[in-house]
Amino acid sequence: MQAVLFSAPETLHIERVPDPTCAPDEVVLQVSRCGICGTDVHIYHNEYMSEFPLIPGHEFSGVVVETGRAVTDLKVGDRVAVDPNLYCGHCDLCRNEMANHCLHWQGIGISRPGGFAQYTAAPARACYRLPERLTDTQAAFIEPLACVVHAMKRIRLLPADPVLILGAGPMGLLLLQALRRMGAGAVAVVEKQPARLELARQLGATLAVPASADQDAALRELAPRGFGVVVDATGIPAVIEGALRFLRPRGLYLQFGVAPNHARISISPYELFRNDWTLVGSFALCYTFLPAIDWLANGAIDVTPLVSHVAPLQDFASLFHQFAAGQTLKVHLQPPSA
Ligand SMILES: [Zn+2]
Ligand SMILES: [Zn+2]
Repeated sequence: MQAVLFSAPETLHIERVPDPTCAPDEVVLQVSRCGICGTDVHIYHNEYMSEFPLIPGHEFSGVVVETGRAVTDLKVGDRVAVDPNLYCGHCDLCRNEMANHCLHWQGIGISRPGGFAQYTAAPARACYRLPERLTDTQAAFIEPLACVVHAMKRIRLLPADPVLILGAGPMGLLLLQALRRMGAGAVAVVEKQPARLELARQLGATLAVPASADQDAALRELAPRGFGVVVDATGIPAVIEGALRFLRPRGLYLQFGVAPNHARISISPYELFRNDWTLVGSFALCYTFLPAIDWLANGAIDVTPLVSHVAPLQDFASLFHQFAAGQTLKVHLQPPSA
């Protein structure tokens, strides 16, 4: 089959590789769509937990083409999305509602072959059958939206709290919609690209300001005491370091963007103490596929405007580099069907 291969850090090829086979509790899927994620860029630069060689891709849906002999609840032809986070179900953390920190965690497209390929194997327990009305575009957003749902469960948002989102890439724009659904008051977005700011306005941002020397005045006017929740959706250490200055007393800071694993920032423990602040991280997702599917199927979250490219898998290399340079929104690749 045809697949994208990260053969070593910063080396990618589209290659012919053997078709996957499935273990007794797994299925083989023909991939319909797979989205490029910022995490894929970190993997490419060897700033994440992956090892090489790797077939990347963890935001995908597909059609079951083969089932292992122990699989009873899926059949050939089923359309499914796959939770790429594989939890053992037996360790202390799995058994204490922290499956995303499973001691034996594996990630499809992270630590085992992923969705940038014609076919991929996945445990049946990680597959979610799709409602018929869900489009392929929506289906490839289930995984990123499930990460947003996990973040919504990690934070505490009071009704009508003002919220600030730093970064309006595809994840920032999902966070914007989710936070509005969760009952946020004014939602401000800071972003350097004008087209993304315009999209943020269309998707309901109260204020969308260019990242610049003037941004603080506009933000202070909207939320004179600061924001109840500040979310980083950039993963850029310098942006993260400056984010706490926008927090209101009792405010909550959410680290959603993925920063390079070697990055460090400095914060003032005195300010943290003096302001009753809460700092929250949100890693991947934790059994949040079902609410994400519900939000998409019920039209609560609009993903159509977040897709800038739908292209054949052969175009991966050039689109990946454009994505990494911030020149695209979400990019979806479609592997050839035969
Ligand atoms: Zn992702
Ligand atoms: Zn576990």
